[in-house]
Amino acid sequence: MELDSIECVSSSDGIDEEEIHHHQFSSKPLNNIISSAISPATSVHELLECPVCTNSMYPPIHQCHNGHTLCSTCKTRVHNRCPTCRQELGDIRCLALEKVAESLELPCKYCSLGCPEIFPYYSKLKHEAQCNFRPYNCPYAGSECAVVGDIPFLVTHLRDDHKVDMHTGCTFNHRYVKSNPREVENATWMLTVFNCFGQYFCLHFEAFQLGMAPVYMAFLRFMGDETEARNFSYSLEVGANGRKLIWEGTPRSIRDSHRKVRDSHDGLIIQRNMALFFSGGDRKELKLRVTGRIWKEQQNQEAGVCIPNLCS
Ligand SMILES: [Zn+2]
Ligand SMILES: [Zn+2]
Ligand SMILES: [Zn+2]
Ligand SMILES: [Zn+2]
Repeated sequence: MELDSIECVSSSDGIDEEEIHHHQFSSKPLNNIISSAISPATSVHELLECPVCTNSMYPPIHQCHNGHTLCSTCKTRVHNRCPTCRQELGDIRCLALEKVAESLELPCKYCSLGCPEIFPYYSKLKHEAQCNFRPYNCPYAGSECAVVGDIPFLVTHLRDDHKVDMHTGCTFNHRYVKSNPREVENATWMLTVFNCFGQYFCLHFEAFQLGMAPVYMAFLRFMGDETEARNFSYSLEVGANGRKLIWEGTPRSIRDSHRKVRDSHDGLIIQRNMALFFSGGDRKELKLRVTGRIWKEQQNQEAGVCIPNLCS
């Protein structure tokens, strides 16, 4: 179920154009430390690649009587036959290779995305699951989209593949119109992407069932990590007939799933009765005007202040 039509009037107040544009995901060349860590390790790393599934092997690493290695996951799948020589596999550990692995230090697999960290072989996986440079999941909420990537890639993906509306500027003024407000399903949503302060933000608008009551909700997510998201704030306003609801909050990182943010109610929530009241008319049609603004918090005051003598 889709919202029937959206009118968007987005205006820029010009401030955002003056901000310093920085892209977190610009690819940086590997520094010397990483290069020297890679070169001796590469061939050993190949040895540690399971010949069956090509994943990195972690203890217990197994081998057959002829010395062919394989990972523990594959061992359970091959019915006691070595996949390489078809001989009976038995239960032989390859301790030498396990020891070699222990001695290795390898760069994070997201080093090409900018992560400078180097880890002992066995703690690398743990880091990579939480690495700040790991790719983001597609923030589109309507379907299970498996696309991952850095922010510039995802912005292009949202625009080209999901046909998401793109707006430049840090203020917005959207009208959400729906001819049959009785239809409320969890899947109803609308996404608009805003580009301001050199960053991208996802404005979600949706209808869902909260307990027994249908509600509408609008919230903002930041296309970047949580620490950066905290540099920004946003406000949302909806109202009519002398009443107004105002929400002020911090955008959530798209590391938090759309559903997680929605289920935590971290946004502007409009009860249906109020939404229909704001829509005016005969309560047959939903017509909500949501206005809002994104701004940057002034945490680094000193960095932003320009002293003419020093800066000229
Ligand atoms: Zn394997
Ligand atoms: Zn074998
Ligand atoms: Zn990393
Ligand atoms: Zn997607």
